[in-house]
Amino acid sequence: MAFTLYAQARTALARDSLAGLSVGDALGAQFFVPGRRPADLAAGRLPEPVWEWTDDTEMACSVFAELARTGRIDRDALAAAFADRCEPHRGYGPGAFTVLRLIRTGTPWPVAAATAFDGQGSLGNGAAMRVAPLGAYFADSVTEAAAQATASAELTHAHPDGIAGAVAVAVAAALAAQARLDGRRPPATDFVAAVAASLDHGPVRHGLDRAGTLIGRPVDEAAYELGNGAQVTARDTVPFTVWVAARFLDDYPAAVRACVEAGGDIDTTAAIVGGIVAAHTGTGTPGGVPDAWLAAREPLPDWTG
Ligand SMILES: [Mg+2]
Repeated sequence: MAFTLYAQARTALARDSLAGLSVGDALGAQFFVPGRRPADLAAGRLPEPVWEWTDDTEMACSVFAELARTGRIDRDALAAAFADRCEPHRGYGPGAFTVLRLIRTGTPWPVAAATAFDGQGSLGNGAAMRVAPLGAYFADSVTEAAAQATASAELTHAHPDGIAGAVAVAVAAALAAQARLDGRRPPATDFVAAVAASLDHGPVRHGLDRAGTLIGRPVDEAAYELGNGAQVTARDTVPFTVWVAARFLDDYPAAVRACVEAGGDIDTTAAIVGGIVAAHTGTGTPGGVPDAWLAAREPLPDWTG
């Protein structure tokens, strides 16, 4: 990139990513309702509105608002925002709910995050599910996207896998937004390789390396090989989502449909993929987040501006 990215442009990219994340989350969550079938979506039949968003969106809104306010992650402020805004009915996992309750009742976030899962820290996909708008915000620097993603992840995810998942998704969103600004679409293999290169060796990196060998394969095969989030871990969620985003980087509806068809933790895989892809496509554009889908999604909180 050969131009300066001003705060207003950063915020606009992050807002597009948040739109894609929240629509993916809200639409994905519809498929946990009995009677809903992926085949309906494939045939163009959308669930009845309103599509309520879940914890993925609630936390992503706090990440977005913090960046829009200060341009970086203030960890104490973001931890307090996560804890104060946590609405239990949004589908938080028990581990995340416990960490946020500890923070809300005065436990410092490093202590709260470290106590999760018998002192090992969370290796779940929760830090990855909320971070795509942050990556879009740092479209001019993969290094900064990774550093700020780490800062945002550590508030709830002390395990290296949980942090690596967030770094991978933020880097993917940064690359997606960067490619949009440059007016090009990177080959899927290059995209996955660039995301993998941002990580140290470990299970998430291993999964991304594997994802790079599956470009061109069917969605169900990729989900079988990489996981579909059914274990709600970073390692069984993030490699598949980066694969889907790379494969469908200029087609938001197809990207979200792929997540729905793959099953598993659908609201989270669709939130991650939606956040990455919308950083590239925008909303209301050909291949972007459809206006009708945005209109069907429950409105975002007023404090996101
Ligand atoms: Mg959720």
